[in-house]
Amino acid sequence: MNQNIRVRFAPSPTGTLHIGGVRTALFNYLLARKEKGAFLLRIEDTDRERSRPEFEKEILDSLNWLGLHWDGSILKQSQRLGIYQKMVETLIQKGHAYSFEENGKKAVKFKAPNRSIQFQDLVHGLIRFEQNSFEDFVVQKSDGFPTYHFACVVDDHEMEITHVIRGDDHISNTPKQIAIYEALGWLPPQFGHLPLVFGQDKSPLSKRHGATALSAYHKEGYLPEAILNYLALLGWSSGGNQEIFSREELIEKFSLSGINKTNACFDSEKLKWVNSEHIRRLSDESYLSQIGAFFSEASFSKQKQFSPIALLYKGRIRTFSELLEHTGFFFEQQLVFDPQAVHKHLSADQTRQHLEEWKKVLEKEGDFSNPSVLETLLRQTSERLGINAGALIHPTRVAISGRSVTPGLFEVMALLGKDVVIERMQYAIMHFKQLIGPTNE
Ligand code: GLU
Repeated sequence: MNQNIRVRFAPSPTGTLHIGGVRTALFNYLLARKEKGAFLLRIEDTDRERSRPEFEKEILDSLNWLGLHWDGSILKQSQRLGIYQKMVETLIQKGHAYSFEENGKKAVKFKAPNRSIQFQDLVHGLIRFEQNSFEDFVVQKSDGFPTYHFACVVDDHEMEITHVIRGDDHISNTPKQIAIYEALGWLPPQFGHLPLVFGQDKSPLSKRHGATALSAYHKEGYLPEAILNYLALLGWSSGGNQEIFSREELIEKFSLSGINKTNACFDSEKLKWVNSEHIRRLSDESYLSQIGAFFSEASFSKQKQFSPIALLYKGRIRTFSELLEHTGFFFEQQLVFDPQAVHKHLSADQTRQHLEEWKKVLEKEGDFSNPSVLETLLRQTSERLGINAGALIHPTRVAISGRSVTPGLFEVMALLGKDVVIERMQYAIMHFKQLIGPTNE
């Protein structure tokens, strides 16, 4: 491919940036970076009723957050009305367009050519539209604004776009746009249409399938690199088995020939898995700074134990927001107990007697600065009591966390500290009955 490829992402600020839109932006970005070309941004705000500045801001914020940085300045269609006006006049002069009345106001239509139109799609191969596959269509509305088809062609030509990469939903627009290129005597760019993104129920991705706006993923604590990685896999394949890619690897491996022809299926569980893999790959330093920034508003992030606790969960969370769900017990004043866990691990009288013994050992000689010292102590105690270690580990875990699953018990104990651990054990031993709750008694 030549070195001077120029592609663009051309969102309409009539809604938030959603998963499908980001994927289009990403594929354009990857192609431009791979080929050392230019990735341009154009805001298609010619629909005066539906375009909103807050959507435009949200789109730009999302692109910036993802690091999909564009080259040069942003082109805004609403600021280019004079240019479209001139080109409409050219079309009329050349006999390719004509004025008509719409609600008592003048508008302009393009004359559909009387022939078939075909193009070589970069993804789908030859696509042909027979004669009369579309009728005359509006290029300038009665409010003086151009329509999408017309502004798109004028701008792609002026921006010297070489490849138009966009969703399959635009395939039927392409012959109309090619007809305008030809009427103006311009060479059309190459077109490549990306298969659409569907939900797992095989219907087009919509709010029904969960969050589709990118900002929702930002708020939930996904990493930009993971979103890009997952979206790249939605409709593209590197040819091998690799599933986790850094941004640099995506750029290096991307090619239009790897784009699938069939629709892609969005799987939020897979996205979570990809995100967890990217979290795991962060250096501890970068992880702590990112998760700290994510929780900067939350009071628990101000606690001195926040960093070691967050590190303990680095390999266990799939999104940053999950940290809060998993670690509530570290910070809760009044522990929330899982009644079933209490029932299973604390209801036997003998268990509580053993726990009482273990608590005494901890009070007397527990060194909480080192998890492995705590482990040795527990094993010695269980041996002395003639029980296996698990018979102390599980009840202790429930007593100090309220739940049956946590990261390594001794690390959790060390992080909670001696006073809290003893106090919680004491509380659970005394109150186990009410903690089980009425249903399990
Ligand atoms: N504004 C159009 C959209 O958001 C862009 C289509 C195109 O890339 O030509 O779908």
